[in-house]
Amino acid sequence: MNNITLPEIAENLLLAKRVLLLSHTNPDGDTVGSTTALARALRLCGKDTLCLCDRPIPARNLFICCEGTYSTECEVLESDLVVSVDVAAPQMLGLLRDTFEQRTDIRIDHHASADNFAAYNFVDASAAACAEIIYDLICLLPCEMCEEIASPLYTALNTDTGGFRFSNTTARTHRIAAALMEGGAAAADICETLYENVTLESLQSNALFLEKYQLHLDGKVLFLPITMADKERYGFSDENVEGYATLSRKIVGVELGMVLREKDGGGYKVSMRSRKTVDSAALCALFGGGGHARAAGATIEADSFEEACKKLLDGVLANIVFED
Ligand code: 5GP
Ligand code: MN
Repeated sequence: MNNITLPEIAENLLLAKRVLLLSHTNPDGDTVGSTTALARALRLCGKDTLCLCDRPIPARNLFICCEGTYSTECEVLESDLVVSVDVAAPQMLGLLRDTFEQRTDIRIDHHASADNFAAYNFVDASAAACAEIIYDLICLLPCEMCEEIASPLYTALNTDTGGFRFSNTTARTHRIAAALMEGGAAAADICETLYENVTLESLQSNALFLEKYQLHLDGKVLFLPITMADKERYGFSDENVEGYATLSRKIVGVELGMVLREKDGGGYKVSMRSRKTVDSAALCALFGGGGHARAAGATIEADSFEEACKKLLDGVLANIVFED
């Protein structure tokens, strides 16, 4: 799967003048933290570097970025090297897909997806987060670890492992987290920002969850359909409902939690989270999506929300396998 090594990536980065780092649409802590850290490291190496995402970074992840690192305008930087980070498939480029699917030189990822759309792909599916790979890469660059690199990487590692609780967390994850703390990561402040700052809106959103959830297969599958009207009723954006899939999986007896939402810009997006008995990535692959075994996503092609719900439920209930 890999046709480039980390030392070769480092070499290419150091040969480039201007580097563009691409994040995935609907950006999470890993893609934002990993690109921000790499951008800062490259700037310390004298490179003109910019990160790009198809839409503005959501408010909850803004604290990870440093000023001037991110842009949403495609042509702002005439770059000679385009590197995607945490982008599992071309559709995950979102609005950037048309411009960059054929122009991505190097893809750095930890999704075992077979879609190696870049010219050179480095994929380590054993990495809990892209942050682990980016940490190793930055260690190969001629720059010192510092708070401005360590904090976003620590945030990326922390969020993709659910605060070091998900089964992707390894001894290596903890070793890198420790090295990042030694390198200046503001771990306690980051954890407080991530986990000790519940908004009243998100607390209120639990009412929507309780009102709309459905149980299937003796309660092993929890399905939550969320329409634009639901979000409008509560004054929510996509951000307010994103945590629901993770919340679903926490419920005793639930093996698979899935949230289907009508997106703010249109389209139907499913997020799945599962315990170790269910392969979420395999189920999302039924709909052209993918991800990890315990956390995956897909966009459901349908003409209406009702049709998307039916397609999703029919597909999942007919194909789900529970392993011991
Ligand atoms: P989320 O549900 O949080 O959007 O995504 C969960 C995981 O699945 C993430 O690792 C994300 O990159 C991946 N994922 C989400 N949507 C898609 C998709 O449409 N295609 C693929 N290949 N992966 C996806
Ligand atoms: Mn990731």
